[in-house]
Amino acid sequence: MTLGKVLVSERDIAQAVERVVEEITQDYGDGDLLLVGVMDGAVCFLADLMRAFPRSVEMTTIRATSYEGTESLGELTVNNLPTPEQIRGRHVLIVEDIVDTGATVSVLAQKIEALGATSVNVCALLNKPSRREHDVETAYICFDVPDVFVVGYGLDYNGEFRNLREVRELSNVE
Ligand code: 5GP
Repeated sequence: MTLGKVLVSERDIAQAVERVVEEITQDYGDGDLLLVGVMDGAVCFLADLMRAFPRSVEMTTIRATSYEGTESLGELTVNNLPTPEQIRGRHVLIVEDIVDTGATVSVLAQKIEALGATSVNVCALLNKPSRREHDVETAYICFDVPDVFVVGYGLDYNGEFRNLREVRELSNVE
């Protein structure tokens, strides 16, 4: 397995983060907003996104796991779900590293709605539209990527490469 070409550079990410924060700010103004970062993949994106807001913004995290290597295990394990008290009546923005089939954000949005959120939207760093199987509304997307396995800027391959500053293709994976 080797690191392939850079798909999204550090500079492109920084510019896209500013752009989506402007879009979010246009839509939400100074109103209520709770960012819910999906760990571990969204760790870098969440940290940069929240610091790009021109005002105070609240955040929490949720943990979702479905991948081993480059393969989805098919079953989503969700840990660390917020309490109803944290979510009830709030405008929630799920912050995700990548929307692939859409299964993860679809399940998480349902769970957060069931906890009593007033609204739930999705903000994703990456989007693989060609792989979509679930009808999910992704309100804020930084980049569409082709159907290749990507790592970096929070995204891993078996725990590796999360710390890359850019998003790269991973080649020759078994
Ligand atoms: P979905 O549920 O939309 O099919 O997949 C979403 C999750 O799968 C992401 O949060 C991420 O953990 C994982 N995933 C999907 N595609 C990739 C990829 O190309 N690279 C990495 N590292 N993870 C991916």
